[in-house]
Amino acid sequence: MFFELIDLTHTLTNQSPTWNGDCGYNHNTKLDFHECDTKVKFCVQQIVMQAGIGTHMDAPAHCFHGGKTTNDFTANELMAPCVMIDVSGHAHERYSLSINDIKQYEATHGLIESDVFVVVYTGWERFWQTPSKYHNNYVFPSISKEAGKFLLEERNIRGIGIDTLSPDRPEDDYAIHELFLGASKFIIENIANAKSLSPKGNTILALPLKADGLTEAPIRLIALKLKSVL
Ligand SMILES: [Zn+2]
Repeated sequence: MFFELIDLTHTLTNQSPTWNGDCGYNHNTKLDFHECDTKVKFCVQQIVMQAGIGTHMDAPAHCFHGGKTTNDFTANELMAPCVMIDVSGHAHERYSLSINDIKQYEATHGLIESDVFVVVYTGWERFWQTPSKYHNNYVFPSISKEAGKFLLEERNIRGIGIDTLSPDRPEDDYAIHELFLGASKFIIENIANAKSLSPKGNTILALPLKADGLTEAPIRLIALKLKSVL
C-alpha cells in the first residue's frame, strides 16, 4: 500500500467534551444477553447523542436556513486533498490562526491549492481527556476572520478543520462559521491526531452518519497519507 491510514477521530464516551458542557453521548442496553429467549443471544443497544459531538461536521444548514445538510454532500465532495498547518508551537489559549501563519506555511510547502481541505493543528487536542480544560469556558485556539477570508477568497479551499471545539471563539462572533458555511463549504471540529498528518500530500475522507436533515453530524475522519517511497 502506498498510503498510511490515519484515524483523525476521537472515540465518543459519556465524558467527551461538549459545547454546552452537558453529557453529549451515551449508549444504553435495551436487551441484554440474559433477557434473550432465543437460542442465539443478543445484546441490543440504543445510542443517545448530540448531533454536534466529538469529531463532527458542520454543514451550511447549521447557520443558514435552507443550506446543505450533512447528507447533501456527495462522497466525492467528502474526499479531499488535505494540508495541515501546525501552529502548536505558539498557539496559546486565545491564539487565532493568522494570515502570517498561512504565508509562513506556504513559504516552506508551496501555495495552498484550490479545493484543498485545510486542517489547523493547534495542539489543543492534548486536553481532550480533560473536558473542563478542553472547554475552558469557551476559550481555545481558533482561526481569525482574516485568515479564514484569505483561505476562502484567495485560495478557494474546500473546507476547514481544527482540533478544538470550534474554529470560532464565541467572543469573535462566529466569523468562520458565517464565512465557510455561507460559501456552502463544510467545517470539521474536534479533530484528533492531526499532528500525524504531513504538512501536505494527505487525502481526507470525512464520512458523516448518513441521516436525513442533519445540520451537524458525527463523522469518522480518516486520512490517507502518502508513504515516502525510497
Ligand atoms: Zn461548529
